[in-house]
Amino acid sequence: ATPMATMVGSTLSAKNGVLYKGADILEKARGIDTVVFDKTGTLTHGDMRLTDVVPIDQALETDGGSDGSTPAPDGGVLADREAKEREGERERAVDDDLLLSVAASAESGSEHPLAQAIVEGAEERGVDLEKPTEFENVPGHGIRATVSEGEVLVGNRKLMEDNGVDPAPVEATMERLEREGKTAMLVALESAAPGPADPASGDGQEPRAYELLGVVATADTVRDSARETVAELQRRGYDVMMLTGDNERTGRAIGDQLGIDPENVHAEVLPEDKADEIDAIQADGSRAIMVGDGVNDAPALTTAHVGVAIGSGTDVAIESADITLMRDDPADVLKAMRVADATISKVR
Ligand code: ADP
Ligand code: MG
Repeated sequence: ATPMATMVGSTLSAKNGVLYKGADILEKARGIDTVVFDKTGTLTHGDMRLTDVVPIDQALETDGGSDGSTPAPDGGVLADREAKEREGERERAVDDDLLLSVAASAESGSEHPLAQAIVEGAEERGVDLEKPTEFENVPGHGIRATVSEGEVLVGNRKLMEDNGVDPAPVEATMERLEREGKTAMLVALESAAPGPADPASGDGQEPRAYELLGVVATADTVRDSARETVAELQRRGYDVMMLTGDNERTGRAIGDQLGIDPENVHAEVLPEDKADEIDAIQADGSRAIMVGDGVNDAPALTTAHVGVAIGSGTDVAIESADITLMRDDPADVLKAMRVADATISKVR
C-alpha cells in the first residue's frame, strides 16, 4: 500500500471509531471468510445482573414435577421420597438470604463480571456480606472461598463434579434458567460433618464434603446492533461463529437471539483453549476475524488472521488486536472491513 492510501484509510476509519494498529492490517483484512465473536462483553453488554436465587428446596420442588407437567411413571412417589430423604440429610434450612449471603461473600473475592453481578444483587437486596478469609479462582469453572459458614464453591457443574458434589438435584432448575439464556451457577457449602473417609487416599486427608445450597443466575443483554450485524455478515457470505466459556444451553439460547447457527456456537471453551479453537477453525485454510474484549480473548485475537478488540475491553485485548472498535459497537466490524476493502481497491 502506498503511504497516501494508508493514510486515507486510517483517517476515514478513525473518524468512524475504528482504529487500525499497523498499515499492513488493511492488506491482512482481505480474504476473510469467517467472523468469530466472543459472547460476553462483545455481542452482549457484559453488564450481568443477578436475576434468580433458588434455594435447594425450591429447586427440588421443580425437579419433583409438582407442577404436573411431566408426570413420572410412578406418579412422582420415588422423586418425593428421594426429596424427603435429601431433606432429612440436610444440616441447614436454606433460604434466599443464606444462599445469597454465602454466594456473594465468597464472590466478593473475585473480579469476574459474574461475581460482581452476584455481589451487587446481594447488596441491592440488603443481604449481609463478609470478605472471604481464603479465596481461589478456578478459571473457566468458578471459585472456592472460605467464609464464616465454611468453605464455599460457586460455579458450574464441572466445578461441583470435581469436588464430589452431585449437581443432579438442581439439574431441572439449571436447565430452565439456561434455556432463558441465563448463566446459572451452583452454590455448595462445606458440610459441618466430616466427609466420607476415602481409604484409597492413604495421605490421611479426608476429602471435604459439601452440601448443595442452591442455584443463582445472572442475565446479560445483547448489544443493540449485534443481531443486525450477524445478519448482514451472513448475507455477505461470511461464516459467523460465537465462542463462549458459558455452557452449551445458554450459548445456544443467546445464539438463537442473534441468529447464529447452533452448530456455530462453540460453548464451554476454557480460557486457555480459545486460541486453539481459532486454530481449529482456520485449519481448513479459512481466514478468521476474531472479535473479543477479555483477557481470555487475547491469545485468540493474536491467533486469528485479524484480531479486533472492543474499545471498552481489557488493555491486553486491545494490545493483542490489529483493530480496535472505539464505540463498542459490533456493527463497526462491518465498517472496519468496508474501509479496508475501499482502501485496498484504491491502491490497486
Ligand atoms: P466467559 O468466557 O463466558 O467469560 P469464563 O471462562 O470466565 O466465561 O467462565 C466460564 C464459566 O465458569 C461461567 O459461565 C461460569 O459458569 C463459571 N465461572 C467462571 N467464573 C466464575 C465465578 N467467579 N463465579 C461463578 N462461576 C464462575
Ligand atoms: Mg468477553
